[in-house]
Amino acid sequence: MHLIKDNSIVVTKTQFTAEEFIQKKIELLKDEVEPFFAVDLEDVCNKHIRWLTSMPRVTPHYAVKCNDDTNIIKLLAYLGAGFDCASKGEMKKVMDLGVSADRIIYANPCKQSSYIRYAQEVGVEVMTFDNEQELMKIKQVYPNAKLVLRIVTDDSNAVCRFSMKFGADLKTAFKLVEKAQEINMEVIGVSFHCGSGQMTSKAFVDAIQNARTLMSYGIKLGFDMNLLDIGGGYPGNLGTEDYFAEIAAAVNKALDEHFPDDGNIRIIAEPGRYYVASSYTLATNVIASREMVDAETGNSKYMYYINDGVYGSFNCVLYDHYVPTPSLFAKNDSNEKHTTSIWGPTCDGLDCINQSIELPKLAIGDWIYWKNMGAYTISAAVQFNGLPYGKPIYFMSKQFWDTVKAAFQTVPRKYQVETSATRVNSSDCSYEIEDDMLPWIPEDFAEDT
Ligand code: PLP
Repeated sequence: MHLIKDNSIVVTKTQFTAEEFIQKKIELLKDEVEPFFAVDLEDVCNKHIRWLTSMPRVTPHYAVKCNDDTNIIKLLAYLGAGFDCASKGEMKKVMDLGVSADRIIYANPCKQSSYIRYAQEVGVEVMTFDNEQELMKIKQVYPNAKLVLRIVTDDSNAVCRFSMKFGADLKTAFKLVEKAQEINMEVIGVSFHCGSGQMTSKAFVDAIQNARTLMSYGIKLGFDMNLLDIGGGYPGNLGTEDYFAEIAAAVNKALDEHFPDDGNIRIIAEPGRYYVASSYTLATNVIASREMVDAETGNSKYMYYINDGVYGSFNCVLYDHYVPTPSLFAKNDSNEKHTTSIWGPTCDGLDCINQSIELPKLAIGDWIYWKNMGAYTISAAVQFNGLPYGKPIYFMSKQFWDTVKAAFQTVPRKYQVETSATRVNSSDCSYEIEDDMLPWIPEDFAEDT
């Protein structure tokens, strides 16, 4: 029997949904019940294609902080995306995978000096700033850096807000450009972030207009300002496609109005959750349960303990204001529902994933899966209490990958990764692993057992 190991990339003969893939993997498990992610690489490719067709003037620079999974970085690099890095660690990770420095923006307005020096050493020239102290620090450490001035936005309609921490208002921004001119630092553009999980396209439109005002001022002062960075905050969950289309339409209109294509302006964005949120589905196992009978009503409430929690993949509950929704396989999905809470595996009372939800009765050993678990999950997870969190297994159909490869053949390749994996024959299940189809396939992948 063929076992699919963690971190495998599985190329399937036919197309699978995440649910089908999880079910297949579970069938192949014996006693092992560790949590795992089914990572739909087709979904990541489709997101990229949708981005390119929806906002053709905007080059995405994937925000690595959102999910720094090596295979996601490799795939997006292969497809021609750039990268937004927040630290030395992220720059190193992306560059170690073969991405050249000119595809990276160091998009953290407040940086430690040694990381700025590192950016200089490895040739990452473009970085953001939003205050005078940062400007002076960069001047001292990396006087030839190319600066992008981050402006504040109205992020009051965003789920995760940043404007209390980052971004200069326009009046301050004017002064910063003047200061940069005085100390001979090069400001090449303007950036903003409308907040993660932004609920209104107007925030993007207003920010583009403000960026125009600032850029016109900088150009008047003599700067060659030609980079506009429209940040992150684009929705990525299943079912948000229409809202993404609405934002894209509003952004395109605002860009055409304020930044008509004159052959000089370069527009980039820093999407994170857009790319990965929907591609990760987490499979967890019920490891314990308790029934609590209400003394007054006699009704039962159920508590289920699963093997991943808020210190692991579900840290998004604490840090990303996320409310995960459990999904059950058909065999569990009965009509009789009970008030239920779902808890993580650690000894901490804070480790609660759902406080109250109506679910059918579950048994120890049942699987629960969770959609939209790719953004701000594994990148901030820890093994508190010595407990592991979900490990990814990637899947994509051969036919889809062949189509994508053909479509992206013309993307300029500054990025090459040797393929050294061997073919695995797994005719006893419907999977086939074909290393030679994936130029970025990792070396450790499924083996016959
Ligand atoms: N760019 C910067 C500077 C950020 O701080 C973030 C998120 O924290 C992002 C991009 C990505 O945002 P999102 O995942 O909402 O697209």
